[in-house]
Amino acid sequence: MTSMLEVRPKAGGLPVPFACEDDGGALDHSHVVKRRAIRCALSRICGICGETLTRPIAFFGPLAEWDAGLFTFPPTHHQCARDALDLFVPLGGRHLGQAEPPLTWALVTTGGFDVIRPTRRAGIVQFRPNSVIEAVIID
Ligand SMILES: [Zn+2]
Repeated sequence: MTSMLEVRPKAGGLPVPFACEDDGGALDHSHVVKRRAIRCALSRICGICGETLTRPIAFFGPLAEWDAGLFTFPPTHHQCARDALDLFVPLGGRHLGQAEPPLTWALVTTGGFDVIRPTRRAGIVQFRPNSVIEAVIID
């Protein structure tokens, strides 16, 4: 585990990403907090560590999200994404903002992204990477 994940508060003994903590401090590994997702996008901060993003920007999620070109977890540092996947993928379970444990993950690096705002109030924010640099499938 790296220092970036080590500084995050823990739930169930595991560090909770910045995007999975609400502003009141509630922690939920299986849920991306909408306000945090928007903050990550607008302020260009990492969904794992909460620090300013640097390029290349990374996105990760279930293979189906990569196939659709839309991710629900906010942008992250490439290293944060690698560290988080190294930690959580072997564990399985409902982690990294996923309500359903993905069987296969995709990790994508990109120079930029678009934010897809929900059309309904209850909808989720999604991210569409553009100019994909590299895509890695992890299972
Ligand atoms: Zn980070």
